[in-house]
Amino acid sequence: MRGIKTLLLEKNSFGRATTAASSHMIHGGLRYLMYDRLTTQTTCWDSGNILQIARKNLIRLPIIWPVYQGHAHGIETVETLLESYDRFQPMKGGLRHLRLSKEETLALIPSLRAEGLIGALSFDEWWVDPVELVQKNLGAAQKYGAEVEGGRGADEFIFKDRKIVGLKSNGEEIYAKIIINAAGPWIDEVAGLAQIRIPLRLQKGTHMVYKEKLIPFGLILQTEDQRYVFVIPSPQGTLIGPTDIATDEKPGRIKTSEEEIQYLLKTAAHYLPSLPPKYDSTIIGARPILAQKGNEKLLSRGFEVLDHSDRDKIEGFITIGGGKMSDFRLMAEETSNLACKKLGIRAPCRTALETLNGEILPPSSFKRTSSALERFLKAHPHLREAHAFSYLALAFLKHCVSPRSPKAEFTSYYSTPPRPQ
Ligand SMILES: Cc1cc2nc3c(=O)[nH]c(=O)nc-3n(C[C@H](O)[C@H](O)[C@H](O)COP(=O)(O)OP(=O)(O)OC[C@H]3O[C@@H](n4cnc5c(N)ncnc54)[C@H](O)[C@@H]3O)c2cc1C
Repeated sequence: MRGIKTLLLEKNSFGRATTAASSHMIHGGLRYLMYDRLTTQTTCWDSGNILQIARKNLIRLPIIWPVYQGHAHGIETVETLLESYDRFQPMKGGLRHLRLSKEETLALIPSLRAEGLIGALSFDEWWVDPVELVQKNLGAAQKYGAEVEGGRGADEFIFKDRKIVGLKSNGEEIYAKIIINAAGPWIDEVAGLAQIRIPLRLQKGTHMVYKEKLIPFGLILQTEDQRYVFVIPSPQGTLIGPTDIATDEKPGRIKTSEEEIQYLLKTAAHYLPSLPPKYDSTIIGARPILAQKGNEKLLSRGFEVLDHSDRDKIEGFITIGGGKMSDFRLMAEETSNLACKKLGIRAPCRTALETLNGEILPPSSFKRTSSALERFLKAHPHLREAHAFSYLALAFLKHCVSPRSPKAEFTSYYSTPPRPQ
């Protein structure tokens, strides 16, 4: 779109790796509000852009968070979290949360366990077929002249002094002014071809897949070890997961263990006693999380564009690492900005101003996060949690003194037309 001659190489099949193994949601990252607020804000902002450019591929997914006696997060805490999320929801075309009584919850999901249920909170995200989304992006890029080739990857880099000037792929030499490493959990392996390291903290995640649509709306379920898993219904069936386990296996080698299956089955069957124990398949992927200190539960899902000329004194090479599917457009924008800067190209990014079908869009009326604050928290990651917590503490105080959310939206909440024509 900025006039650069571009070739995209994919070692295997486009979109069939981590992206296909995701929870299939364009979402803002509700959970990051607890320790990494800016990532939620940025992701909500770019999810809004993705909604605009790929509207026909997204389906609104109301999600219900049932709260039971003895749960780690009580109903007021969960509602506080969702009240905080409400502030970001308009950015991505989401609705304000709803608080549901026990009876309303069971009327919406009759197969849910009634015993111990206090009530529920509801919010919404967007479901997407991730492989279809990748295909749409490839098609849009090709219309602008990009060449895309699956089944061949970067096998070796060609150096001239400290500059990468090309690569070898299936024995062929390909020369380019800039090479971008966008290999998700494989970025370290690809960087290794240039004798540099990009340390990652890969977290593997499995979903069980049912071909059948088991419930009408999404669910968030607390696990025994006080994590959460989703039940995600869609036109393709139902996903239950994901697990979230640190791994030092190579991303192409990870496998679902029997323990993961038992963990997911046990959690889901606890809340949905009629769940068929026989699932159809599993999917697994490794979250491409950049190395950072701290507890696994608090790992930032933010992304970074690495300029290897600054970082490693290697010219002509850029890596994009971390991030999520829900901010893929922004990750591409910032990576391309750096490539354009190096190439002396001034054309601005337009990927938020045109749909993947080529229709022109007005600029978003929402603002991104403050880059000064973002830089500050990147430089002082230990303050990230304190930053998030200060907002939540204030939100909790407000929650305690303000009236409960109104019920007026109830009918439309669960009956929004699923996919626009
Ligand atoms: C269990 C799980 C659930 C998730 N759920 C969500 C979610 O609901 N929403 C969300 O926004 N995010 C989610 N994520 C995160 C999201 O899936 C990833 O951040 C995203 O899909 C990564 O995309 P990617 O293109 O960077 O990586 P990938 O999809 O893994 O693509 C990288 C590609 O690089 C290719 N490659 C490797 N080596 C080479 C080479 N040498 N040359 C050329 N190509 C090469 C690979 O074959 C692969 O196809 C989830 C992740 C996991 C693991």
